[in-house]
Amino acid sequence: MPLIVMKFGGTSVADARCISRAAGIIADAYSEGHSLVVVLSAQGDTTDDLIEKAAEINPAPSRREMDMLLSTGEQASVALMAMALEKLGLPVISLTGRQAGIRTNSEYGSARIEKVDCERIKSELDKRRIVIVAGFQGINKYDDTTTLGRGGSDTTAVALAAALHADLCRFYKDVDGVYTSDPRKIKGARLLSEITYDEMLELASLGAQVLHNRSVQMAKRYGVELEVLSSFERKPGTIVKEVLNMEKTKISGVAKDTDTARVAVMGLRDEPGIAFRVFRVLSNAKIIVDIILQSIGREGTKDISFTVARSDLDTAVAALEAQRTALGFLELDVSSDVAKVSIVGAGMMSASGIATTMFEALYDAKVNINMISTSEIKISVLVDEADADRAVAAIHRKFFED
Ligand code: ADP
Ligand code: ASP
Ligand code: MG
Repeated sequence: MPLIVMKFGGTSVADARCISRAAGIIADAYSEGHSLVVVLSAQGDTTDDLIEKAAEINPAPSRREMDMLLSTGEQASVALMAMALEKLGLPVISLTGRQAGIRTNSEYGSARIEKVDCERIKSELDKRRIVIVAGFQGINKYDDTTTLGRGGSDTTAVALAAALHADLCRFYKDVDGVYTSDPRKIKGARLLSEITYDEMLELASLGAQVLHNRSVQMAKRYGVELEVLSSFERKPGTIVKEVLNMEKTKISGVAKDTDTARVAVMGLRDEPGIAFRVFRVLSNAKIIVDIILQSIGREGTKDISFTVARSDLDTAVAALEAQRTALGFLELDVSSDVAKVSIVGAGMMSASGIATTMFEALYDAKVNINMISTSEIKISVLVDEADADRAVAAIHRKFFED
């Protein structure tokens, strides 16, 4: 019997009507003869509301207690969904992450799944039950509840699909698939029928929130085929897989990431070993650096600029300031009013003129580029945050709408 893992996000289970609608989709898949494992998120804004509630009581709660609290959102969803399916007369059971055997490390708030003990789920499936699993949560070696980081239910779904060797993992969303850009912001965004893991991973990491990037990494590693589709309309969505057989368009999407900040280390000596010393300071502080730019040396000095996640900016600056004399720079120039705008496409590797087209679009829109970085399947530019939406729209228009 083909096994499908289905995942419904917060919007798709937001209220009783949404739960009934999702239950209808699950019931149909069950009547087609599939074995079903269903992963749910917390309803609507539940997770945000719980975070607020905690802050009212203690502005700095321990991460263990925070996970204890946040995991309740998903637990409520699965019980409610099981009740909806019971009402339809279907055999169903809901499970917490712990009952589903999701074992994680002990990084409360951003735990990684280490292993899935599937016996319980398998025995429930053998009884022909629909198994509803709380997303976003697991259990560590101390028998304590952990959560996987915001958006982590996607990762629960893929982990279960991989562990159970599911035939397909379907994500039901408030959008009907993966688009060439966020359809809520770009009117002309087009639905993609297929996309590769690598492209999806870049899009997810570059700010298109449609799938949690760790879920895509895991899907690629274990070869789990994904489908992103609507929980409101019944129609095919976007397939995410390794190789596409369709004729590849040159680029698949345009994304914006505002979780970035720029640091310029100015007036460094222009001599061997300087870049090494600057980045060693950052790596010792566990900072992940993204785009890097080094100026040409002039009069014996040079500047090195780089970007980091906004949450790492203060740590990065403090680490560099602490080594100011050893590194010998004149000043740091810092900005968090920046955004990264990227184009992604596996077809880029074998096409020329893609960068030119992107830069022309930015020129037409009078957007200044602060930094550029490229890889085989993406080109990113750093622009002022105020220009970012205009930049995405202009690039999207140039590639997809002209
Ligand atoms: P879920 O409720 O399942 O967790 P999310 O809210 O995380 O779903 O993801 C869906 C949202 O992602 C959509 O509402 C859409 O606005 C946004 N999004 C951003 N970029 C894209 C894109 N390229 N294609 C589709 N959706 C996108
Ligand atoms: N409920 C969690 C969140 O809002 C996890 C998820 O929805 O995937 O981030
Ligand atoms: Mg999500």
